[in-house]
Amino acid sequence: MAKKTLKEGRKKHFNVQAGKLYEIKDGKLIKKNKNCPRCKKTMANAKGREFCGGCGYTISAKKE
Ligand SMILES: [Zn+2]
Repeated sequence: MAKKTLKEGRKKHFNVQAGKLYEIKDGKLIKKNKNCPRCKKTMANAKGREFCGGCGYTISAKKE
């Protein structure tokens, strides 16, 4: 079965969900992700990498 192609004009949109960015621990709201060193926006975390949607800054996870 062939997948239907995406409708024209549909953009790949990276939607950051608040529930993924914050975690409630001991009744406190903790921000999971770091802030971007460049533009101070909250960075998205994907597979060990942190990516800033604001300026495109990416931090690769260090192998230790
Ligand atoms: Zn940034």
